[in-house]
Amino acid sequence: MNEKEKALKICSELKKIYPAAECTLSYSKPYELLIATRLSAQCTDARVNIVTKELFKKYTSLESFASADEKELEDAVRPCGFYRTKAKSIKEMAKKIISDFDGEVPDTMEKLISLPGVGRKTANLILGDVYGKPAIVTDTHCIRITGRLGLTENSDPYKVEKDLRAVIPENEGSDFCHRLVSFGREICKARKPLCDICTLSEVCSYYQKNAENQK
Ligand code: SF4
Repeated sequence: MNEKEKALKICSELKKIYPAAECTLSYSKPYELLIATRLSAQCTDARVNIVTKELFKKYTSLESFASADEKELEDAVRPCGFYRTKAKSIKEMAKKIISDFDGEVPDTMEKLISLPGVGRKTANLILGDVYGKPAIVTDTHCIRITGRLGLTENSDPYKVEKDLRAVIPENEGSDFCHRLVSFGREICKARKPLCDICTLSEVCSYYQKNAENQK
């Protein structure tokens, strides 16, 4: 089985386990996903969803974020950690979307990463979930699991993204990464992967290596 065949097998197996591939962050407008993703750095999605439920009621437009009192915004996002930096970049991001992109969240990687606080991971999430464009979101689950599976030997997010783009079909990338999040939480856990019940063990480098070592 070559690398692409292996990647396809993994995609199809994950699809069986998680037919629905959904973003775990709650949002109803493109800019809300951008803000929720910014808040999710070093914070759980569950906590972000609790915070944004109130946040998006208090600030109901990009303009309201752009003109927010910074101290008040800091207080509103405090439970997500790094609240000063996050509040500042959310405000600046809102201002730039209004001034440079007519109030529309941009739809290209280049423009997205020009926004304050937005890196490739966030940009890929927007491209995939909002605009349905090819995207690979290299979060912690993606990097750990694809490394174990042997789809990449890298741990640098951009290098992992490039490795995965070479083997995962373009139209599958975004869903593939969402499924990895669920798979990482439930089966291929960071500390103790549940290899004994994992249906990917047959194509998993980490599992095969461990099996070899035990012989
Ligand atoms: Fe993760 Fe183990 Fe499954 Fe490999 S076999 S993908 S390490 S749970």
